[in-house]
Amino acid sequence: MQPTPFEYAPAPESRAVVDIASSYGLYIDGAFVDGTGRRFKTVNPATEEVLAEVAEASGGDVDRAVKAARHAYNRVWSKTSGRDRGKYLFRIARILQERAREFAVLETLDNGKPIKESRDVDIPLAAAHFFYHAGWADKLSYAGFGSDPKPLGVAAQVIPWNFPLLMLAWKIAPALAAGNTVVLKPAETTPLTALLFAEVCEQADLPPGVVNIVTGAGATGQALVEHADVDKVAFTGSTEVGKAIARAVAGTRKRLTLELGGKAANVIFDDAPIDQAVEGIVRGIFFNQGHVCCAGSRLLVQETVADEVVERLKRRLTTLRLGDPMDKNTDIGAINSPEQLERIRTLTGIGEEEGATRWSAPCELPDRGYWFAPTLFTDVSQAHRIARDEIFGPVLSVLTFRTPDEAIAKANNTPYGLSAGVWTEKGSRILRMANAVRAGVVWANTFNHFDPASPFGGYKESGFGREGGRHGLAAYLDVA
Ligand code: NAD
Repeated sequence: MQPTPFEYAPAPESRAVVDIASSYGLYIDGAFVDGTGRRFKTVNPATEEVLAEVAEASGGDVDRAVKAARHAYNRVWSKTSGRDRGKYLFRIARILQERAREFAVLETLDNGKPIKESRDVDIPLAAAHFFYHAGWADKLSYAGFGSDPKPLGVAAQVIPWNFPLLMLAWKIAPALAAGNTVVLKPAETTPLTALLFAEVCEQADLPPGVVNIVTGAGATGQALVEHADVDKVAFTGSTEVGKAIARAVAGTRKRLTLELGGKAANVIFDDAPIDQAVEGIVRGIFFNQGHVCCAGSRLLVQETVADEVVERLKRRLTTLRLGDPMDKNTDIGAINSPEQLERIRTLTGIGEEEGATRWSAPCELPDRGYWFAPTLFTDVSQAHRIARDEIFGPVLSVLTFRTPDEAIAKANNTPYGLSAGVWTEKGSRILRMANAVRAGVVWANTFNHFDPASPFGGYKESGFGREGGRHGLAAYLDVA
C-alpha cells in the first residue's frame, strides 16, 4: 500500500543572519584590497539573484598574495611554535562554531545546497578539521616523520565549488598546523564563504599574510599554481584541470597533491539489508545533488535482488523534496551553475541515445534557478558514457552482477579510483571487496561518511596524496 502523501509547512531558515556586501576585494596580507583585474558576479543558483560582485585576481594580484605569504612565512609563521600555531587553529575552529549559522546560510545561498546539509555536514566538518589539526600542531615530532619535521613554505591551494568551506578547511587546516602559509583560490561560483573565512582569520588575530584569499576563475588558479615562489600546490577539482596542473608543475621543485574526480561503485549483494542499502544509495548519489567527487554514481546490484532494489529505490526517490535550499525540509537543492546543469543534461541525453532506460522522480522544478530531478538509469552497460564519465549530478546508473568476482571486475572497470561502497551482511566479503576494489575509501554498509582523522584521496585518475589524518600531514611537511 502506498503511504498517504502529506505536505510539510514551509520552514525557511532566515537569510537575515548573514550580511552580504555588494562588492568584495581580495584578502592579502591581512587586509581586503582592491584587485587590479576585472570583477565578476556570484549568483544564488536557486533564484539566479546576484549576491555580490567579486574581484578577479590578476597575475599581479596573485604575485602580491604569494609575496605576502612568503614574507609571513619567513618573518612570523616559520618561527611560531607548534603550540602557538595550535592556539590560532583552535581559535579559528571555535569561531567557525560560533558563526556556524551565518556560514551555513551563506554557503546555501552561494552554492544552492540544502540548508540542512550545510548546517549539519559542511560547517560542522569544517570546524572539526580545524580542531583536529589544532591538536597536531604541537605534536608533529610524534607523528612518525622524524623528530623535527619541517614545513614546506608557501602553499598554493585551489578548490572546487561543491563543498566550498569544507574544501577550504581540508586545505588550510593541515597547511597551517604543519607551519606553512597559504594562498587559496576558491571556485568562481562559490567565493563567499572563503571571503567570510578571511574575517574569521582577522577575528582570530592570525598574523597578516599567513592566509591569503584570491578570488577568480581558471586564469587566476593557473597564475597561482604556476607562480615561481610557491613550494607546494594542492588542488581539488576535475581530472582534466588536475592533469594540466601536473604538467605545469612537472620539472619544478614544487610538491603536488591532486584530489580529482571519481565514478564510484556502490555494490549491493543479495544478503544486504535492502532498506538500509536503499538509504545508503540515496545518501551516496543524491546528497549535495550528486556534486560529490566520491559519489556512488554506479550502482552495482546482484542480479537476484536488482528488481526489488530498483523498485524500492524509485519509491524512496518519489519522497525526496526538491526545492528552496533555504527550507529546512528540502532534500535536493539547486544545481550550482548553468554550465553544470548543461553538462548533466548532455550526459543524460547521451544515456538515452545509447539505449539506457531513464526514470526521473516526479517532482515539480521551480521556474527560476538551475534544477535537475533525481534520475536513475537502468539497462546500463559498462560501455555507456553514463557508466564511465563523471556526471557530477543527481544521476545514478544501475548495473547488475552475478558473482563477487564480476562485481570486483566491474567496480574496477574505470579510470578513477576514489571511493566505493559495499553492502552485505558478511564480514569476510566486506574485507575481500575492500582489498580488491582499487579505491582510496571503501565504505561498508554506509556511504559518504567523513572524519578529519581518516585520510581521504584517490588512486589512478582520481589523483594522489591524502587529506586528513596523519597521512594528510605528510603533504605539508618536508618528508619523502
Ligand atoms: P574544475 O577543475 O573546473 O575547477 C576546480 C578549481 O580549479 C576552480 O577553483 C577553478 O577555478 C580552478 N581552475 C580551473 N582551471 C584551472 C587551471 N588551469 N589552473 C588552476 N586552477 C584552475 O572543477 P569543478 O568543476 O569546479 O569541480 C568539479 C570537479 O572536482 C569534479 O570532477 C569533482 O570530482 C572534483 N572534486 C574532487 C574532490 C576530491 O577530493 N577528489 C572533491 C571535490 C570535487
